[in-house]
Amino acid sequence: MELVNLTEEEQLFLNETAKFVENELRPHALEWEQQGRTPRKVWERCGELGYLGIKYPEDVGGQGSDYMYAFIWAQEMGKCGTLGCAMGLTVQSDMATPALARHGSAFLKREYLIPAIQGKKICSIAVTEPGCGSDVASLKTTAVKKGGDYIINGRKTFITNGMQADFVTLLARTSDEPGHSSFSLFVVPTDTPGFSRGRDLDKTCFPSSDTAELFLDDVKISADHLIGKVGEGFVYQMQQFQFERLIGVGISLGCLQRAYALTKQYIQERNVFGQQISKFQVTQHKMAQMLSEITMLECMSYQCARKVDEGKDITKAVSMLKLMSAQILQRVLEECVQLFGGYGLMTEYEVSRYFRDAKLWGIGAGTNEVMKEIIAKKEGLS
Ligand SMILES: Cc1cc2nc3c(=O)[nH]c(=O)nc-3n(C[C@H](O)[C@H](O)[C@H](O)COP(=O)(O)OP(=O)(O)OC[C@H]3O[C@@H](n4cnc5c(N)ncnc54)[C@H](O)[C@@H]3O)c2cc1C
Repeated sequence: MELVNLTEEEQLFLNETAKFVENELRPHALEWEQQGRTPRKVWERCGELGYLGIKYPEDVGGQGSDYMYAFIWAQEMGKCGTLGCAMGLTVQSDMATPALARHGSAFLKREYLIPAIQGKKICSIAVTEPGCGSDVASLKTTAVKKGGDYIINGRKTFITNGMQADFVTLLARTSDEPGHSSFSLFVVPTDTPGFSRGRDLDKTCFPSSDTAELFLDDVKISADHLIGKVGEGFVYQMQQFQFERLIGVGISLGCLQRAYALTKQYIQERNVFGQQISKFQVTQHKMAQMLSEITMLECMSYQCARKVDEGKDITKAVSMLKLMSAQILQRVLEECVQLFGGYGLMTEYEVSRYFRDAKLWGIGAGTNEVMKEIIAKKEGLS
């Protein structure tokens, strides 16, 4: 942390958030994992504390703070002992709502954004479909204008918070024309007739987060549920992805810091062959390597988070960060588990849960390969 300069206020916010995570989230990690979801009351509590609208303006109930505070929140959430909880809540604050906050009408803000910021409504972002993940432009869900309504038909899958959501922000095709202007982003309340949920998907990771299949059969919503302009949904979603990825980097960074600290403590307590594990040179080298990678990630992440407030296009940097954080997360967590020996594979040990969850970050929110595609394109190579 010595290389990252936080203001006094940012440091205070970090300390408060850390205390919240330590006292109100981490003690419940295993219980929520067993329940297969983070309870609704956690959304309400985070809403009360202002965490779900850190960067949103005060007129919609947000804190009106710099983006850096949202990043710090994500980082501390990465230490909550169960990354599904961190993901579920940040989906609400930073993945499903940025376009709604930026382009949504007064009606949409009043009915959906404000209750989401208050933690009174839970929301999801619904982009992925059974036949389309990385190639977002191949999605098949349609929204057809009929008078003053849109009729939506399609399937979505892998939707975080989908089992509990009161509304989803959903990307659908509003034209058959090729190109990126054929998509629009909508708010779809989950109690609309024709909207139904399939399985609560059984995952190998993130057990404290529910992941749903969603079915839309002639779902009729009034046209005022369109976010912003028709045909702009793809662009809005690509912008929204930048927040999603940077917040995911924050969670990964926090998780790495916590896993490193736990491992450092463990290797100094555990004795093998008459000495602490930390006394072996091979262990020291492993720790040095891990700390170096985490520190590099920390510096670049904070640099990027500051750039958001400057309004710069940081797509390339965020893609590089997303890629590197996913790789470092997996590598470091594997080393941590190795140093814990058998205990590293016991669910009651936090590092085992982080290790189990680490793989998702190279897949969700755009895979490692997709990040490389973006970086190469921005480099003018393709
Ligand atoms: C737990 C979980 C939660 C999720 N939550 C959400 C959510 O809330 N909302 C939502 O909309 N989605 C969500 N997703 C979906 C996630 O974003 C997708 O899984 C991801 O984008 C990858 O899509 P896919 O699974 O269809 O894989 P595919 O796109 O089928 O990719 C399969 C493989 O092909 C590779 N590949 C793809 N394109 C290229 C290329 N150009 N060059 C080389 N290789 C390539 C990929 O990197 C990958 O290795 C979630 C997924 C999971 C697992």
